[in-house]
Amino acid sequence: MRYTGPVCRLCRREGQKLFLKGDRCYTDKCAINKRNFAPGQHGQSRKKVTEYGMQLREKQKVRRFYGISESQMYKYYNLADKMKGVTGENLLKILELRLDNVVFRMGLAASRAEARQLVVHGHFTLNGAKADIPSLMTTVGDVIQVKEKSRSTDKFKSLVENHNGNTVSWLNIDLEQLKGTIVAEPTREDIDLPIEEHLIVELYSK
Ligand code: SF4
Repeated sequence: MRYTGPVCRLCRREGQKLFLKGDRCYTDKCAINKRNFAPGQHGQSRKKVTEYGMQLREKQKVRRFYGISESQMYKYYNLADKMKGVTGENLLKILELRLDNVVFRMGLAASRAEARQLVVHGHFTLNGAKADIPSLMTTVGDVIQVKEKSRSTDKFKSLVENHNGNTVSWLNIDLEQLKGTIVAEPTREDIDLPIEEHLIVELYSK
């Protein structure tokens, strides 16, 4: 199941910022700035972390970054394992190519959670067809666009006004048309998250 509780707890659990709340994450209100210890009664006690514990935490961290359930994560791992190349990198590539993450990478949402919501609310098309499933897998050549009716809404107008122009190298953005084209597969260097994916592979391949 996907976690729907307070997201700052997840950052405190992992002991680092996971940037799940958009702009708030860059302010002093960030819970990691204020209380950087695990939530709960024993949150401040020191524990020796086992190898298994490290692998588990890494997997949970990645699930939280991308907002996915355990069963989805396991499914993606199996897919990544069957692909050519390095399993850990394949896994991250699969996660990056989810529709909700592509919307986030286009700079059209402050967080992946917001991107997910915008997708579910039907604001996007994929290659011209309605696309309201956040887990839809995209591929090179796909065109993701804000649907025509939504482009003139205050929400998207303000997103364009505040867009910082930053995006990833594998996406070509046309802000006027609110459109993104996937021009290449994401590489490991494109993924700017502090992830040690080999720990996840070790966990699942036991
Ligand atoms: Fe995490 Fe953002 Fe909450 Fe800080 S504000 S704890 S980075 S979700």
